[in-house]
Amino acid sequence: MTSTTAAIHCLVCNRPVADPLWILGAAVCDRCEELLVATGADDPGYDRFVERFRHFWHGLAAAAGSSEARQ
Ligand SMILES: [Zn+2]
Repeated sequence: MTSTTAAIHCLVCNRPVADPLWILGAAVCDRCEELLVATGADDPGYDRFVERFRHFWHGLAAAAGSSEARQ
């Protein structure tokens, strides 16, 4: 069976993930998922996650917008 699956990278740490967890459409490795769960909103590291997801969603919105504009 040929797998054409491109390497999926963790949204947070950007490492290749063989079996990512999908959180709201974003691939996250199990290590970062653990960190994400363990990180509270008061944690300084929390902003980093939020920033990453925000950036990701912004990219999604931009991609959706450009494909709509083409039609
Ligand atoms: Zn990760």
